[in-house]
Amino acid sequence: MATAKYIEDFRDGPRARALADALLGEMEGTSGTCRFMEVCGTHTMAAFRFGIRSLLPANLKLLSGPGCPVCVTPTSYIDTALECARGEKVIVATFGDMLRVPGTESSLVLERARGADVRVMYSPMDALELAGREPESRVVFLGVGFETTAPAVAAAVVEARRRGLGNFFVHCAHKLIPPAMRAIVESGEVSLDGFLCPAHVSAIIGADAYRFLAQEHSLSCVVAGFETLDMLAGILMLVRQRKRGEASVENAYSRVVRPEGNRAALSLLEEVFEPGDAEWRGLGKIPGSGLHLSEKYRAFDAAEEFELEAAPSQEPQGCLCGEILRGVAEPPDCPLFDKTCTPENPIGACMVSSEGTCAAFYRYAER
Ligand code: SF4
Repeated sequence: MATAKYIEDFRDGPRARALADALLGEMEGTSGTCRFMEVCGTHTMAAFRFGIRSLLPANLKLLSGPGCPVCVTPTSYIDTALECARGEKVIVATFGDMLRVPGTESSLVLERARGADVRVMYSPMDALELAGREPESRVVFLGVGFETTAPAVAAAVVEARRRGLGNFFVHCAHKLIPPAMRAIVESGEVSLDGFLCPAHVSAIIGADAYRFLAQEHSLSCVVAGFETLDMLAGILMLVRQRKRGEASVENAYSRVVRPEGNRAALSLLEEVFEPGDAEWRGLGKIPGSGLHLSEKYRAFDAAEEFELEAAPSQEPQGCLCGEILRGVAEPPDCPLFDKTCTPENPIGACMVSSEGTCAAFYRYAER
């Protein structure tokens, strides 16, 4: 009950209306359109679900960014995960969202229908326990996601080493958000006034992690939570910075996010992973944007165990997921949107994931 009450406080209608009115007031008489990118897929979903987009002034635009972990996982990774799933006595353990993401020729759900052992997990620790219970099989956990999910995977790997489990592996595609934000800005493809920075990722890396965007690129950054009042307050702070001609990092989610982040989680990441290049759907290879298992934990790396190498993969024909993840296209721009591509029959990753921009537009946007 206490939790429900706490959440309701951040969805309070009259206070939301007051924030929306303040936004309208700030934007009145402002020249040009204000463009902010909400980096995180959960912000995208929340902006639709809570009707926040409908409260925004016409000259303020929210663009979706690359913060949906399933969406940015490239087809080449799905193909290698499928290769694992086809192995003898292999269990692929994964979060549910990954099942229907199309690879070049198949998906995990199709492979499961053909007899592969693919199981949905709620946490990496569940996959570790599964490996303990089924010592005859090799269990491969699909490690996708950002700084938010990577610490739990790191903890599972440390525990696997402590228990001496030789049949637990991680197929690692963890990614870091700040290098992707840098890549988007430096590509010059999309013009932005600032970023609504992700809530959960920021809880781990801290608000200070975005300082380079303000200092090097004069972009405003505000960390915001996912509730209605959090998001509206964050957007209002961004608008006020723009009006003052400032670019700084502010924190509208200080009840959770500290400037320095979560030191315990960060040191766990440092213990288990080392940064390296990573391939992103739509953004290509971004230097230093991935987390790879460090030498000490290499024995748990599925890529080594299964000698996985990314073969040339193919994106679904006509799909604009890449452009959408870079903020240069919106789902209705895709010729497949709401025609051949729907949540029941997703052609691309952005329609599969619960945090995907296409799924959000499909469910909530007026059309
Ligand atoms: S509508 Fe479907 S095919 Fe088009 S970009 Fe979105 S996910 Fe890809």
